[in-house]
Amino acid sequence: MATALITGITGQDGSYLAEHLLDKGYRVVGVVRRSSTTPYERIAHLVDRIELASADLLDQTSLTDVVGDTQPDEIYNLAAQSFVQTSWNQPVLTGEFTALGVTRMLEAMRKAAPKARFYQASSSEQFGKVIETPQRESTPFYPRSPYGVAKVYGHWITVNYRESFNLYAVSGILFNHESPRRGLEFVTRKVTDAVARIKLGKASELRLGNLEARRDWGFAGDYVDAMWRMLQQDEPDDYVIGTGETNSVEQLCAAAFGAVDLDWREYVKQDPKFFRPAEVDLLVADPSKARSQLGWEPKVDFESLVRMMVDADLARHTAR
Ligand code: GDP
Repeated sequence: MATALITGITGQDGSYLAEHLLDKGYRVVGVVRRSSTTPYERIAHLVDRIELASADLLDQTSLTDVVGDTQPDEIYNLAAQSFVQTSWNQPVLTGEFTALGVTRMLEAMRKAAPKARFYQASSSEQFGKVIETPQRESTPFYPRSPYGVAKVYGHWITVNYRESFNLYAVSGILFNHESPRRGLEFVTRKVTDAVARIKLGKASELRLGNLEARRDWGFAGDYVDAMWRMLQQDEPDDYVIGTGETNSVEQLCAAAFGAVDLDWREYVKQDPKFFRPAEVDLLVADPSKARSQLGWEPKVDFESLVRMMVDADLARHTAR
């Protein structure tokens, strides 16, 4: 039985990846940080089937010990401070988790399990103020937030450890990926949650920032399969993962409100509080390398994704 170690297992991607690997017969070990509350709602249905190990991306010794004790075949480094807006308020902490945390994980692997295969969660935010459209593996990076800058570091340190120490280490440059398990601070989930509350008479408006930003939004459940495929190749390499379709925040609102027969213009208000100091205006992936080399294709399109999220939020708020 192969063993997978996942940092960030309590997050959206960690929970989908754990399900995916359990289905394939893996032993799954999740790295969790000690805290006074237990944020396990996304993995509550899995806790009997996975192991949890305590370590912190800020603490090298704990990471090296977990990797040494677990002896994983595959390591998925999904943990990070992952919210762009917060990265302006906590830029140094974002760098500690999202940038240096990657080096610490790579060091842990190099010292304690150098034959393991390493997946780094790179991000389309690395493309930021895009140099070309669509964005592919060879597109130069131009990050636009402390988060994006930290992710660029994480990306290059992964490439550098691969080339310096002959490790099997890859970066998946994933475009935005969403689901009913997405955090409520991200725009997709903020919108679908508000749509559900408005439809049920529990809210009357939705305050948003820039409605013109465009993103390539896919389904997180599809994207964890791409992560796994990247670690099954003969040679380690980096891949862009996205749908190739881009939609604006306004189109997101139209789709989500439209799913419950409401007109978004009657409810959405713009609020300067949600605008960003620097914006990423347009992201759209060219996933052709992943299609041809990994045999990977997204299965859920934008409309179906939005509907899935609205339905889940309606069910959740109705049950309360
Ligand atoms: P990101 O691409 O990782 O920053 O994902 P987000 O879901 O946080 O943001 C996607 C886009 O939606 C960005 O261009 C934001 O500026 C835009 N946006 C507009 N209004 C909001 C809002 O109220 N909250 C968030 N999170 N994003 C918003």
